Amino acid sequence: MLPKVKIPTTAVSFYSALHLKLFPSILHCSSFHHTHKHGTSTPSSPSSPFTKQAFTSLLQSSSSQSHQLKQIHALLLTSGLSIKNSLITQLLSSLTLLGDMTYARLLFDEMHKPRSFLWNTLIKGYVKNDLSIEATSVYQIMRGVGVRPDPFTFPFVLKACSQVDDLCAGQEVHAHVIKFGLDFDAIVRTELMLMYAKVGELCSADYLFETMSERDLVAWNALISVYVQTGNAGKALGMFHGMVLAGIKPDSVTVVSALSACANLGCLETGKQIDQFVIKENLNSNLFVNNARLDMYAKCGSIETARCLFDKMPQRNVISWSTMIGGYAMNGDSDKSLHLFSLMQNAGVQPNHVTYLGVLSACGHVGLVREGQSYFKEMIKSNDCNVQPRLEHYACMVDLLGRSGHLDEAYNFIKSMPIEPDVGVWGALLGSCTIHKNIKLGQHVSDILFNLSPEISSYHVLLSNIYAAAGRWVDVENVRRKMRKKGVKKVVAYSAVEANGEVHVFHGGDRTHPLSSNIYEVLAELIKQITSIGYVPNITEALHDVQMEEKEATLSTHSEKLAIAFGLINVRPPFPIRIMKNLRICNDCHTFVKLTSKVTNREIIMRDKNRFHYFKDGSCSCKDFW
Ligand code: ZN
Ligand code: ZN
Repeated sequence: MLPKVKIPTTAVSFYSALHLKLFPSILHCSSFHHTHKHGTSTPSSPSSPFTKQAFTSLLQSSSSQSHQLKQIHALLLTSGLSIKNSLITQLLSSLTLLGDMTYARLLFDEMHKPRSFLWNTLIKGYVKNDLSIEATSVYQIMRGVGVRPDPFTFPFVLKACSQVDDLCAGQEVHAHVIKFGLDFDAIVRTELMLMYAKVGELCSADYLFETMSERDLVAWNALISVYVQTGNAGKALGMFHGMVLAGIKPDSVTVVSALSACANLGCLETGKQIDQFVIKENLNSNLFVNNARLDMYAKCGSIETARCLFDKMPQRNVISWSTMIGGYAMNGDSDKSLHLFSLMQNAGVQPNHVTYLGVLSACGHVGLVREGQSYFKEMIKSNDCNVQPRLEHYACMVDLLGRSGHLDEAYNFIKSMPIEPDVGVWGALLGSCTIHKNIKLGQHVSDILFNLSPEISSYHVLLSNIYAAAGRWVDVENVRRKMRKKGVKKVVAYSAVEANGEVHVFHGGDRTHPLSSNIYEVLAELIKQITSIGYVPNITEALHDVQMEEKEATLSTHSEKLAIAFGLINVRPPFPIRIMKNLRICNDCHTFVKLTSKVTNREIIMRDKNRFHYFKDGSCSCKDFW
């Protein structure tokens, strides 16, 4: 008797082709010969020559193509073996691995009372194929029909919740975890922790971690890496230190995350210490670790150390090359960046879209318009879809054209784009309108931006800058009112500075630092000194800054100014003061830092959102083009 399973039409249509295509392979299958000869097979249909073992090996050998799996399904149904749960399970996992979730779901829906294992397989399949909404809805159905979730169900359901950034759903699942007594299961708890960290509930993530009965390397690594990926580099580094203190030895996964946190925050000293650990523990033969070291040195302003490391690396891949090319670009060294790109091509390493982003920004930082255009054409001509220009490359080209003064060309370039331009692309043009004080185009672009993304404050700020520069204060006030009315949120500006192995983060007008009064004294003295050699605060930006960018801050207490004053007190010469700012440095601060480097005779290295600025003897490496 055939099992109570409806034959899906897709499966039937394959049936005729099936015998021709699959039968020979079954005949050659050793397990088939063996069981047939000795009569030990147990097919549920006496007429079927197929055995469970034969199917198993078929499934294993055909896991690369979806249509083959469908043929096997048809064969299973007609042979009567589909009642074997293990075979159906195997088929289901093979389908999910191939990403054929539609057929997998069809197969699942035909099953009679599937057990939790099969539910888990389906949920996992959806998560692995980035179909998180479907995963959580299957979980709801599973709960609805009364199937008890087990320790293998929750990790994937929680992954689905964090993929869609759904804290409420995550909290509901957390309640179920507690209800089923699984909140101390190490894997479930780690996944809960990661879910909270990913959706930004850091306190809950920390609490779960602190109250974990056994904090092993996996749990530490998971949390450190998620903190770095979600932009909480400071927390990631704090955890890294905590891990070492707790006597857990970091492995290559840990050091990659920790180095990436240092790169994000620009913490060279901490990065160097981790690098020493890497060498001591012989982790420097690992390509991923070496790429992370390279990235750390390049992003912390030690481009020459990065180059030495790059030259010595036993193995390099496209990431290594792209990191160096992008690193030189950030440093404004377009010659070295472009030279390295040609070396890469000579070495036969295929560039990807990340490599080209470095190449285009190298051109952008020094205004190499023709060169940039020719590299861009190279990308378009490429047959490799991994090289085809994406939105960020278009934004880079608009920036290159616009900042070099070709505003109309930049506008036409956007208009001719084959993909829909986003806020990044239009934002690049608005930035150029600010530099070249083009009010008419600036207004037009702002209107487009306000419609595209009313919640992003920086564009409103840019437009008000254009008006301020032209002395149109009524318009400045209008933009401000519009922002208030729409409840526009600002990106909070901050600057980080490292001293004596610790990272200190300052916001504009910050008075929370223990050394605050000292910092403000030094700052006041500094302003007095630079004023005597010609410093005049840049009023045009001051006006918007006072009201908007850093709310409580006045121009004289922008975060980078506070960080520099702190650095002057705490970083001893001849070491340079290294500042990392999350936004672009404003005109006034740029002048301030130049003059500070002169009166204090200190070297100040600053990484802003776009590039490095090396201040020395009153001038900057960007030659005021940034
Ligand atoms: Zn500033
Ligand atoms: Zn500069």
